[in-house]
Amino acid sequence: MTDPAFPLIFDGHNDVLLKQFQNGPAARQGFIDGSDAHIDLPKARQGGFGGGFFAIYVPSPNSRFDRLDAMCQPKYDLPLPDEIPQNEAVQITLAQAAILSRLESMGALKICTSTAEIRHCLDNGVMAAILHIEGAEGIDTDFDVLEILYRAGLRSLGPVWSRPTAFGHGVPFRYPSDGDIGPGLTNAGKDLVRICNQLGIMLDMSHLNAAGFWDVVKISDAPIVATHSNAHAISPHARNLTDDQLAAIKDSDGMVGINFAVGFLREDGQMDADTPLDIMMRHLDHLIEHIGEDRIGFGSDFDGATVPADIGDAAGLVHLRTAMRAHGVDDDLMVKLCHENWLRVLGKTWDE
Ligand code: ZN
Repeated sequence: MTDPAFPLIFDGHNDVLLKQFQNGPAARQGFIDGSDAHIDLPKARQGGFGGGFFAIYVPSPNSRFDRLDAMCQPKYDLPLPDEIPQNEAVQITLAQAAILSRLESMGALKICTSTAEIRHCLDNGVMAAILHIEGAEGIDTDFDVLEILYRAGLRSLGPVWSRPTAFGHGVPFRYPSDGDIGPGLTNAGKDLVRICNQLGIMLDMSHLNAAGFWDVVKISDAPIVATHSNAHAISPHARNLTDDQLAAIKDSDGMVGINFAVGFLREDGQMDADTPLDIMMRHLDHLIEHIGEDRIGFGSDFDGATVPADIGDAAGLVHLRTAMRAHGVDDDLMVKLCHENWLRVLGKTWDE
């Protein structure tokens, strides 16, 4: 059972599937036995990582490491990678969905499609996974792939990563900047929102530009959620949420997962792991003020970003809870932030 003083963290975003995809089949056993990744079962047990959203992400041909270097400059504006054709993206999308399925077959985790299943996992020491897509490149505009992936367990989707897709436009890795960049959702993107509402697939606003965000607010009948984004008022990065976006999230009874990526936490936008956890507490306070205690969780970006050295990986989540405790977070709020808020919003979104 979950200890109220040390509740398991159910997390809004990780890139385990990308890492597994890039490292090949041999990496699967490493997920079970231990590895150099941010998340594996031994680290999850040590740090109280109960599971979360496992993102399918189609990498662009250019390297992520160039991006991390550029984000160490005082100001940066990285050009967006080119659009990836759907027929190329679908293959990688299915390959990563298959990785999650195989991890389940190996007994490493359980793919969950209801909050009852997630709760059962948290109570029984099984890692709970939601199949999520970050950037819908692999989805065709007839939504055939979406239909099949839904049957395979897909319950959450971001219409874009930062590249443009058939559905909308994302924000570049630009600092300082806001997300008011380019046009909103395409007609196919508006259809995607309606179909996700009908199926009960959560829509993720992280990475979407401002015009796209406001289109979703207008069209969607589900809570507005950003799985891994921070407060723009503290870290003025294009990826973060402005106070008026936070107000819309509150109005819809949605939520925000606080991103551990240091470039979206720090006031100076730098990708520097030497980032004290105090800055996370400042984002937490700002979010509590603007959206309330019931609408905040975590979205670590583990295995996809540079995180504060004081956390390091899933085992280091212990230090995050200690910092929260020192900051005055009581038992009740601790449980909400660690997983109850995610369960509440998922239950509403999935129409349970
Ligand atoms: Zn992301």
